[in-house]
This record gives sequence, structure tokens and C-alpha cells, in this order.
Amino acid sequence: MAEDKPTAAFALSLVAGIFIIIGALIYIVAGAILSIVPIFGAAVMIYGILGLIWGILVLIGAYMINSSPDKVKTGGILVLIFSILSIFGAAAGLIIGMILGIVGGALAIAWKPSKPSFYEKRDRICPSCGRTIPFDAKICPYCGKNFEE
Ligand SMILES: [Zn+2]
Repeated sequence: MAEDKPTAAFALSLVAGIFIIIGALIYIVAGAILSIVPIFGAAVMIYGILGLIWGILVLIGAYMINSSPDKVKTGGILVLIFSILSIFGAAAGLIIGMILGIVGGALAIAWKPSKPSFYEKRDRICPSCGRTIPFDAKICPYCGKNFEE
């Protein structure tokens, strides 16, 4: 369904990013606690930092989905890829994050701008009266100039 803005895709991606960051923070905190075992603790923390990066990239993707129509697809791809990667280092965003990210990312990739903005982008100027008219107009709605003559 065409919408002005991919609101659902944005909201799902945003929540996905937050859950992935929570998942990553669990590893980072666990790593800090486990730092009594030097190398193991550090390894767990680095693993969590990796998860934190995926979470931030998902949030960047969510931001792109909400920023402008031509960035929605790229944002969706970011959200999709890094939600899946959250299996590593972010406990898949406690599963919820990964699922919401996959759905949100897929929605963003499938999203199409609604018709009005499609027409807005392609508006042109009537060569006769200089006003902005729809790109597919056969006759200027203002001055009546027929473009098919
Ligand atoms: Zn005109």
C-alpha cells in the first residue's frame, strides 16, 4: 500500500535498533563482570562492541527510512542486513530486535512513495504561461494550451 512516509517500517526499525543495542550491552556488561578472567572477559566485551556497531547501523538505517523517499530502500537494506548480523554480538536483539528489523527492513525495501509525491517530483512548467503543471497534462489547466498539437 502506498503511503506518504514508511512510518511502520521506521517504527519497527527504530525499536529493532534499540533491542539490538540492549542485546549488545548485555554482552558488554557481562564482559566487564567476567574481566576477572582477563582474556575471556575482554573477548566477550569485544563481541558486545561488535553487536553495538550493528545496533547503531540499524538505527542509522531507521533514520534514513524516515529522512527522504530516495533513502528508504538503502535504509531498509541496512536494517535488514544488520538485524540478521545481530545474531553475533547482540543476542539477535533478544530475538525481538532481529524479527522487528527483518520485518521493518523488508517493509522499507517494498515501500513505494504515494502517487501525489510521485507527480510532484515530475512537475514541469507550461511553456505558454510559465505555471507548474502535472507532467502528464495534455492541456495546461491554467491557460488551456494544448501540448499535443
Ligand atoms: Zn499554461
